[in-house]
Amino acid sequence: MNLREKIRNIPDFPQQGIQFKDITTLLKDGKAFRLAIDMLAEHYQKQHIDVVLGPEARGFAIGAPVAYVLGAGFVPIRKPGKLPAETISYEYSLEYGKDALEIHKDAIEPGSKVLIADDLLATGGTTMATIKLVERLGGQVVGLAFLIELSFLNGREVLNGYDITSLIKY
Ligand code: 5GP
Repeated sequence: MNLREKIRNIPDFPQQGIQFKDITTLLKDGKAFRLAIDMLAEHYQKQHIDVVLGPEARGFAIGAPVAYVLGAGFVPIRKPGKLPAETISYEYSLEYGKDALEIHKDAIEPGSKVLIADDLLATGGTTMATIKLVERLGGQVVGLAFLIELSFLNGREVLNGYDITSLIKY
């Protein structure tokens, strides 16, 4: 099966000039969804991953099933104010303005092996912020798993030194 054919391109979304990669067309196809999750999980099968982290919101759709296949736990990374218990926060710069991500303070045991999973790697900003949260809590980032990688945005350079797996590259 060609997973690339399951991705829908939406021109000018959410703004003019952006070619948005819509993964909902892959997610709704049972065979494609299972294959994608199995391929990502397989890459980390032997690494004894303790928890998989998924950034809100599409990271939940990828991270949670990968965690299930690996027999690992799942930890949500969220925008400020969404998590109910005590959190730590990491603020990062966007093209215009700032954003922040949060994690529950007790979500990661020091020394645990962490896999970060998301639908798409673009500039690497979201993933780098997530790495900072993991490392502040004493976790060890073992890998970064994505359905899609927009290679022309050079996220790999920002995430230099980390193991990156992506299934579809543009
Ligand atoms: P980055 O922080 O690497 O620049 O952007 C990655 C984040 O933005 C991911 O969490 C991803 O969900 C979202 N994102 C950016 N562009 C796209 C896109 O074209 N398609 C989808 N599905 N997500 C995108």
